[in-house]
Amino acid sequence: MHIADLGGEPAQPGTVYLVGGGPGALGLITTRAATLLASADVVAYDRLSPPQALAICRDDAEQIYVGKLPDRHALSQDQIDALLVAKAAEGDAVVRFKGGDPFVFGRGSEEAQACVAAGVPFEVVPGVTSAIAAPAYGGIPVTHRGASPAFAVITGHEDPTKPETQVDYPALAAFPGTLIFLMGVGRIGRIASALMEAGRPEDTPVSMVQWGTTPRQKQLSGTLADIAEQVRATGFSSPAVTVIGEVAGLAEELRWFDSRPLHGKSVLVPRTRQQASELSRRLQALGAETVEAATIAIEPPQDPQALADRMNRLAGGTYSWVAFTSSNAVRAVIDAVDCSGGDARWFGGTRIAAVGSGTVQALRQAGLVADLVPDTFTTRGLAEALVAELDSRGGATERGGDRAVLLPRADIASDTLTDLLSEAGVVIDEVDAYRTVPADALADDVTTRLQDGDFDAIALGSSSAARNLVDLLGGAPHPDIAIVSVGPVTSQTCRDLGLTVAAEADPHDMDGLTQAVVAAIR
Ligand code: SAH
Repeated sequence: MHIADLGGEPAQPGTVYLVGGGPGALGLITTRAATLLASADVVAYDRLSPPQALAICRDDAEQIYVGKLPDRHALSQDQIDALLVAKAAEGDAVVRFKGGDPFVFGRGSEEAQACVAAGVPFEVVPGVTSAIAAPAYGGIPVTHRGASPAFAVITGHEDPTKPETQVDYPALAAFPGTLIFLMGVGRIGRIASALMEAGRPEDTPVSMVQWGTTPRQKQLSGTLADIAEQVRATGFSSPAVTVIGEVAGLAEELRWFDSRPLHGKSVLVPRTRQQASELSRRLQALGAETVEAATIAIEPPQDPQALADRMNRLAGGTYSWVAFTSSNAVRAVIDAVDCSGGDARWFGGTRIAAVGSGTVQALRQAGLVADLVPDTFTTRGLAEALVAELDSRGGATERGGDRAVLLPRADIASDTLTDLLSEAGVVIDEVDAYRTVPADALADDVTTRLQDGDFDAIALGSSSAARNLVDLLGGAPHPDIAIVSVGPVTSQTCRDLGLTVAAEADPHDMDGLTQAVVAAIR
């Protein structure tokens, strides 16, 4: 089964989907939620639904923000109900995308009632609720043998000192288990007092997890007696989950998420070729927030006819191998085959070598499987593997024979691969497959953050990334941002641009760059 099959049927016309988006971490979205989000005509989302998830919506999907603004609701609940029903009645597939679980303080039940009243079909997609996930990411299990056999999830929105409160504090104080308050930061003092007055001991552990599961996660721990003062003193704010009970005391021992080396750090990753997202994933795995910025754009080659000619030779079986060094090269060649009226069969007589997981993936998307993928993610690794492979198959005859290796590449690619292969006596046919040109502009918020020093580091994977970034920014980024470079060539370019290099990768690859970022800013 393919992972995409887990999510079931795409969103159907005329239906409302009440979808939980989980607590914030993208990996905690269910496959059902992802499938519906990716197929909906209309997506109504709010403040706590994970914003980055909207990137998987269809380009032509209508995205409507219905959440709260600081001073008011963007739309009232009645207006939201009416909107969902009206869009579905027009025949749209409508996703109401919410934070956490739609039925845990999410007003999803009211939206379901509105659908019932209007005769609109609906589906509920439960989500990972922040009530459990934020504590878990703060090292707090909501139950624990011997410490807590039960948990209760309670709204902190109601003022315990008001007579109309629906929350029974004496009953909660007597509840034999963990108390979990949502929306309770502003009233934590009154909540703690009400529980102590009703008999919970003053020294009951309390822990609050803000922006749980996200790179911004922060935690505050104390007791019923002192938590309110700590909130005041540190300016701790919403959104946060408050856990009250013995289990809150396990946080120090079971801490795992915010102790990762780059937690709370943000890194700008200029996007050049396929490497950026791989680097982003590695940095994210260490806890960083990463922002990818395209500093280059991919354009057709200067001489498209030269590429088209090579494609015809490819079809004719001229080449023993075609070697791809980037996903961009793969896409450019596939496009060129397509434009020449060919398809995957044109690769039939030719073996395929690829360097990098992104390159392998791009080939797969075109229905092609690489025959040779070197273990080391470098052009040298590719050259060595290719020479070894040619030797084992045809020996010197194939190497020096008339069937050449096709090397589609970027116009600014380095010559290492060509040099290494020619030295080994391999006949190479190089062709420009695409051109990299500087991107038009950086996103406004990226520019602002670079100028204000609102990144901890910039991870530069190439000289062109460094040059393009400075060009696009119109100068150097804020001096507090650590410049981390992949190797000596990139470092020298940085210095020529007037930048100070805080750390240089060794080895000069994605692993080395990741470690250099850690060394520079942890
Ligand atoms: N349906 C949501 C809750 C909505 S009420 C769910 O199941 O998670 C909004 C409250 O949820 C916030 O005030 C806060 O208490 C909590 N919350 C939501 N996301 C959170 C997060 N990432 N970290 C901490 N608390 C969060």
